Amino acid sequence: MTATPETTASVARTLTLVARDPARGSACSSDLTTGPWAFDAGLPAYGPGASQDDAIPADAPVQGRIPEEYQQASDEELHARIAAAKAALGDRAVVLGHFYQRDEVVQHADFVGDSFQLARASQGRPEAEAIVFCGVHFMAETADLLSTPEQAVILPNLAAGCSMADMADLDSVQDAWEQLEEVYGTEPDADGRVPLLPVTYMNCSAALKGFVGERGGIVCTSSNASAVLEWAFERAQRVLFFPDQHLGRNTGRAMGIELERMPMWNPRLPLGGNTAETLRDARVLLWHGFCSVHRRFTVAQIEQARAEHPDVRVIVHPECPLPVVEAADESGSTDHIVKAIQAAPAGSTFAIGTEINLVQRLAAQHPEHTIFCLDPVICPCSTMYRIHPGYLAWVLEELVAGRVVNRITVPDAVADPARAALERMLAVAPRQSVAQGAGA
Ligand code: SF4
Repeated sequence: MTATPETTASVARTLTLVARDPARGSACSSDLTTGPWAFDAGLPAYGPGASQDDAIPADAPVQGRIPEEYQQASDEELHARIAAAKAALGDRAVVLGHFYQRDEVVQHADFVGDSFQLARASQGRPEAEAIVFCGVHFMAETADLLSTPEQAVILPNLAAGCSMADMADLDSVQDAWEQLEEVYGTEPDADGRVPLLPVTYMNCSAALKGFVGERGGIVCTSSNASAVLEWAFERAQRVLFFPDQHLGRNTGRAMGIELERMPMWNPRLPLGGNTAETLRDARVLLWHGFCSVHRRFTVAQIEQARAEHPDVRVIVHPECPLPVVEAADESGSTDHIVKAIQAAPAGSTFAIGTEINLVQRLAAQHPEHTIFCLDPVICPCSTMYRIHPGYLAWVLEELVAGRVVNRITVPDAVADPARAALERMLAVAPRQSVAQGAGA
């Protein structure tokens, strides 16, 4: 097991050191040391990192090049320009930084957290005219759903999507729903439970949250998925869970549901690749989606960590595959991981299965512990990594000049049912949803 080569919170700096001296470690792409502008000039692309080999939708947003001055500026210059722009804007702008963002961006954030914590944090700053969301597209949409109509939510790089969220698009889910209604019908059973209810992970487009809201369904996070599924099973005989198969399967197994009753729905195949009989017996239909960051973690990595550190405590995110979750000591959302490390006695050793920017930052913040990422290959979330400090400097300086760029807005027709799905979640598990956050 190879810990990251230096106790630094900056993955970008680590990648530079590794590029200069490969004996220090390895990265999944040599392109990680170049600016993301190289990928912002043409067709949609996830760019280097964990999602680099995922198929990207043809209509995924493209950023386009930002002015040359931001591409050429040194780290120190960008740092100074961001700080100056923030000072000039004062309370007019709030900067939110996701746990998985680069440290060079997180250091300028007014709030740091997971997606839902950040959306809630923006609600606490109603005086801010602009919410600069340093995360990915679906997170900015959620912030727009929960903020006031006067507030502009800005995503510094429009190409910062989420490959998992992109794996479930509205057309495919609507098509699946129609096929499933033909198998199940729409009549409730003797207990009044409908045949099927949609449940979506927070990591999806606002359009899908709206789809779910219109059909009486609900949103979940990685910390409240069990409570949300229990709520759903009181109202439905089964659920269609998207887009993350792993969170759905891990949650279903923890609730005692047999694997055979959680078939996968492959949107490219008739009936999702299932027989009608299998579908009729199902409790949870799992969409064929996954997170390419969390899919990298393996049981072999856990075995190696235990061999090298007999006292190690292994914590993985529930977006990891089921065998990895079962081999770990525990699984939980990013907020769970942060709190577990904060509460541990000094001298503890942690092997963590989540995104490298968070793991490396936790290792730097907690020198009293030994903390390392289960995956020895440095491979950040491709889409989070698209937000380079150059983009943050650009959007902030545009705001100072009175211009709003890269605004993310959710149309009212989608926003109303999407909010209904979010509000159902908050009614089911308000404490978990707010205090423990959304996971990814
Ligand atoms: S780490 Fe989060 S944002 Fe990145 S691909 Fe995975 S689910 Fe999407």
